[in-house]
Formats: sequence, C-alpha cells, structure tokens
Amino acid sequence: MSEKKVYIIPCSGIGKVFGSISREIAYILVNDLAKDKTALECLPLIVKGKKEVIETLKENKIIAIDGCPLKCSYNDLIEAVGKVDAQFMTTDIVKENRDLKPEPSIIPIGDKTKKLSRKLAQKIALKVDDLLEEN
Ligand code: SF4
Repeated sequence: MSEKKVYIIPCSGIGKVFGSISREIAYILVNDLAKDKTALECLPLIVKGKKEVIETLKENKIIAIDGCPLKCSYNDLIEAVGKVDAQFMTTDIVKENRDLKPEPSIIPIGDKTKKLSRKLAQKIALKVDDLLEEN
C-alpha cells in the first residue's frame, strides 16, 4: 500500500444536519472503513493558509465532502490548495435514499442520519482506493 494518504476534508456545517453527515462520514472513514489510508485536516486551518498543512495537502490526494450547494470545503480547498481530487455532497445520498429522511437532531445524530452517513462513507471508501492507486 502507498504511504500517501487521502485527506478527507468535511465542510464545517455547524447547525445543519447535512453538515453533521459530512463530519460523521469523515470519522467513519478515518476510524473504520479507510483506516490507515486517510487523514483529517481542519478546514479553518486550511483557509488560514498554514504553510505545512497546505504543502501536505498538495503532496497528497484530497476529498472534499460538502453539506449544501455552497460547497465550502470544495471552494476553500480550491482557493487555498489549488486542487481537489474528488468531491461528494451529503445531499446526494439523501436524494438517493428517500426512505432515510435524516432526523433534524445534530447532537446526537439520529439512526437514519447514521445510516445515510455510512452509505456515503462506503462510496467514498471506494474512491479512496482509486485515488491511492493513482499515486
Ligand atoms: S457547505 Fe453548506 S453546510 Fe457545509 S459549511 Fe458550507 S454552508 Fe454550511
């Protein structure tokens, strides 16, 4: 396996369940489905332009996960790092699973929200493998 990591950058999404899904997915990937292949970095630190962080992101693959069409993670990464290798929207997994309407609760997130998060995390885990093979 490549020593390179895929950086998972969820949007902040505070106060919106779609943003909570974004963060939940990042934790599922880093702690479970793509453990040892992925890493997290903090979006505000990226926006701030912390040099070491930007350099690390330039040398590795990046996946942005956004919670609404404003695409904060994607747009901030493009501006600060100059690239994004794959981009996912939490709203898409909700549209694909009409029977799993996410509960409005953010803390804790509900069972349907957890199921949606895992479904999209499974898709993203496949993309992680694709991106690592490109290295
Ligand atoms: S993409 Fe949407 S949900 Fe995520 S931080 Fe931006 S405004 Fe909030």
